[in-house]
Amino acid sequence: MSEVNVSVQSIRHRLQEVYPRREADNLARIVCTEVLGQREVAYYLGKDIALSGNKMQELDDILRRLCNYEPIQYVQGQARFLGRDLKVTPGVLIPRPETEELVEYMRSEVPSGVRVLDVGTGSGCIAISLALEVQGAEVSAWDVSEVALDVARTNARKYGVQVNFEQRDVFQTVPHEGEAYDIIVSNPPYVTESERASMHPNVLNWEPRSALFVPDEDPLRFYRCIARLGTRMLASGGRLYFEINQTQGVPLAHMLREEGYADIRVWQDIAHQDRFATAVLTKKRIYHD
Ligand code: GLN
Repeated sequence: MSEVNVSVQSIRHRLQEVYPRREADNLARIVCTEVLGQREVAYYLGKDIALSGNKMQELDDILRRLCNYEPIQYVQGQARFLGRDLKVTPGVLIPRPETEELVEYMRSEVPSGVRVLDVGTGSGCIAISLALEVQGAEVSAWDVSEVALDVARTNARKYGVQVNFEQRDVFQTVPHEGEAYDIIVSNPPYVTESERASMHPNVLNWEPRSALFVPDEDPLRFYRCIARLGTRMLASGGRLYFEINQTQGVPLAHMLREEGYADIRVWQDIAHQDRFATAVLTKKRIYHD
């Protein structure tokens, strides 16, 4: 079968029509080395790539998708999270480096054998990492989206880990009799509608809105709901861990105190933005709403 030589430069140029130079070069490197299998050395030497007709077609398709601002992770069907390749589709948020930071922090302080619940699991990145890395952890994970749960289950299977996935909507759910956790973790939607304006089309056109946005007038709606559920489902001394909007550290801490939590900590991500919070439940609720 005849092969055609494609130059690295032509791939870069095509991407540079749409992306800033650095980003275009980075995408070109991923396409050449990870998708087309070119060796890194050959890529950096600017060597041509010999492609069959089919591969040529595939490359064309990939470049078209990238030029349409589809994130590379959706194009590849996977994203890296703490050294693991997780399946992602446009039905789930692409795991972010901030969330890796949250999991790293948790694994440094969460004791072994805990019962963990991950609310709004998406690709399952938090739940699966904790199940793999916290000794003896018993991990459950909820998502409102069946599409997301399918992806998360596939990821759990891939890494041979047991997570109890359940389709549940935090705003509708009533805890089961005796349902109890030591830790509830969540990276819920936290981008406000007014912050949308400054977002990149990669995110805006492709990632699930339901995983990202909250109304300006109630940016803490998921956090309040989860904190209240926590008062009924957390064991005494149980802990919440959240990824948060950088503008919401103070109001979040205030809300958590009102809901009966103590030892509230808000800390920053590597970009020096308030990004995470944790709190301990002190008052256990004994009545039902
Ligand atoms: N960090 C994500 C972003 O800025 C938002 C994640 C979320 O809403 N939970 O796109």
